[in-house]
Amino acid sequence: MKGKLKYLCIIAGLVLIVGIGAVLVLMRPASNGIGSISGRDPIPQEADIYVPYIPGTTDADGFMRGMDVSSVLAIYNSWQEADGSSHFKNFEGEELDIQGFFYLLHDAGTNYIRLRVWNDPFDADGNGYGGGNNDIEATIEMGQYATNAGMKVLIDFHYSDFWADPNKQMVPKAWESYTIDEKADALYEYTKDCLIQLKEAGVDVGMVQIGNETTNALCGEKNWENITKLFSAGSRAVREVDSDILVAIHFTNPEQAGNLANRAKKLYNYGVDYDVFACSYYPFWHGTTENLTEVLKDIADTYDKKVVVAETSWAFTLEDGDGNGNTVGVGSNDTVGDYEFSAQGQATEIAAVIQAVKDVGDKGIGVFYWEPAWIPVQVYDGTQATLAENQALWEKYGSGWASSYAGAYDPNDAGRWYGGSAVDNQALFDFEGNPLESLNTYKYVQTGTTGSGIRVTGVESPVLEYTLGDTLSLPTELKVTYNAASPETLPVVWDETEAAAVDMNTPGTYTVHGIVTAGEEEVEAVCAVSVQKAGLLKNPGFEDADMTMYTVEGSSGNDRTGDDPHSGSYSFHFYNSGTVDFTVEQTVTLDAGHYVFSLYAQGGDVGSDANTFAYVKIGDNVISEPFTLAGWVAWQTPEISFDVDEDGVEVTVGVSITATQDGAWGTLDDWQLLMN
Ligand code: CA
Repeated sequence: MKGKLKYLCIIAGLVLIVGIGAVLVLMRPASNGIGSISGRDPIPQEADIYVPYIPGTTDADGFMRGMDVSSVLAIYNSWQEADGSSHFKNFEGEELDIQGFFYLLHDAGTNYIRLRVWNDPFDADGNGYGGGNNDIEATIEMGQYATNAGMKVLIDFHYSDFWADPNKQMVPKAWESYTIDEKADALYEYTKDCLIQLKEAGVDVGMVQIGNETTNALCGEKNWENITKLFSAGSRAVREVDSDILVAIHFTNPEQAGNLANRAKKLYNYGVDYDVFACSYYPFWHGTTENLTEVLKDIADTYDKKVVVAETSWAFTLEDGDGNGNTVGVGSNDTVGDYEFSAQGQATEIAAVIQAVKDVGDKGIGVFYWEPAWIPVQVYDGTQATLAENQALWEKYGSGWASSYAGAYDPNDAGRWYGGSAVDNQALFDFEGNPLESLNTYKYVQTGTTGSGIRVTGVESPVLEYTLGDTLSLPTELKVTYNAASPETLPVVWDETEAAAVDMNTPGTYTVHGIVTAGEEEVEAVCAVSVQKAGLLKNPGFEDADMTMYTVEGSSGNDRTGDDPHSGSYSFHFYNSGTVDFTVEQTVTLDAGHYVFSLYAQGGDVGSDANTFAYVKIGDNVISEPFTLAGWVAWQTPEISFDVDEDGVEVTVGVSITATQDGAWGTLDDWQLLMN
């Protein structure tokens, strides 16, 4: 909690500075005009954060500075229920109603709002699946707020009753039995009907996505003849309603060589009529911005299409705000990231993605930030009571990513993992609803800011793990991050004396210092080298399919899977809709000596009477070490030290999990048994 308090104090400081900045901005011409002063760069805006000036990003340039706020209405309604207020505030600290929230986004430089639409995100009893319960009615309401605030709207049809992404493109319930031709007709009619409703409600729709992240499938269809038939049906509907609306097709994974070029070619080969090739770009997974530019430029030039980044985001903290673990958090991505985890880091990331799209040329027309306002329905204080209150709000208003009701439609994902926001730390508001200065990035890129210059904020700190007798190999280059520029990989010079002192034949941990020269700055780097005796367990990380060295006893549903590994691609996973009660263990023969057994465990929903522990059995003697499963990727590391008195003794090491609460889940990974 200490870290969070400190963070909030910093934010309070930022708000003061921004307040002064806003007054100065008002004395200048409107930002739209600034970019058009001929032959001169615009005057940088006063700001505490540094944002570069990116030419060609004003309204006059037609550049889309978009935000996807699909969950905001559900969040707002949850707050209204919880304490009758709106937590969203402007930079002056004044509380905003839902319309005021959209005005704030516009004032901060946003000119486009993206909204996802699900066909029927409700169960048979009318309970919402969550994720904002975004049916067309919710979309119309938010679209009207956006239009009132002077912004255009991008409608993002998932053509599913719930989340659609590269791994999941489930057909809507009502279309389940349809042939491909019936599906195409239904998709055409549905698209047309929704767009007519939006138009009649006065929503200023500027662009429509036919599907969301349809990299591998759409609406349950997986072959490209069928997928493109559906694209064409949706496109035809848009053209018939309003020929001025741009038609976009949306894919992801630009980092996979040839992936997007291949999709663009399929669209061409099957004659899909569209205007904009849209792509998701999350720095954690999707490669460099240079690669993004290259991939999008190739498609823009080859097929004469406009391109946008339809989704991107970055985290301002690694903390969790609502009791539902985050996609990016402590323990998962807390090593040196692409950017600083701060409002400055977010602004730098957004500016880098805008620059990457501008580098495509005239056909690069916009960037959309994903879910800048999916903040906690109530800030989680670590107590079970608060978590229960949040869970109740997520269930009732659909303000979490999924409710338990979604399990009926999507049992394998939502049905197992439903809960709150996994991206509250990637919002452009703090957990209390105060805007971060990064919210102004779209305003700032049109002129640049005066913020302090570029400096190094981090250097990669490699941790190398070896077993006795291996050869030491120190990295020659390290990743360097900056407060306000894209990361670079630069050469490192290691301290030769320290490197020579690493004894690969003696177990221990060693530290080697190095120097990285980044422009004018010389920055110290640290490499940790760990030399250990070879582990004594077989398949300790569950990476091998052969599991015969383990004995599993008890309730079913516990096995090696690809779910949430601590490292590598596999782990030992457990889940049961009813009681979970099992042991998993491995027996080895050890010589006399001192040993340590350890492992990684994460999981949750085990209930208050759960009994979870690691154990070591030597004959009749059992040593156990309890641990508490504390949530998704909150890794626990139980450790047991023990002695073996003579050679050739059979020792069994294992884990026992007993949880009577329905739906307990978790993973075990990276077991280790070492002689010390
Ligand atoms: Ca969260």
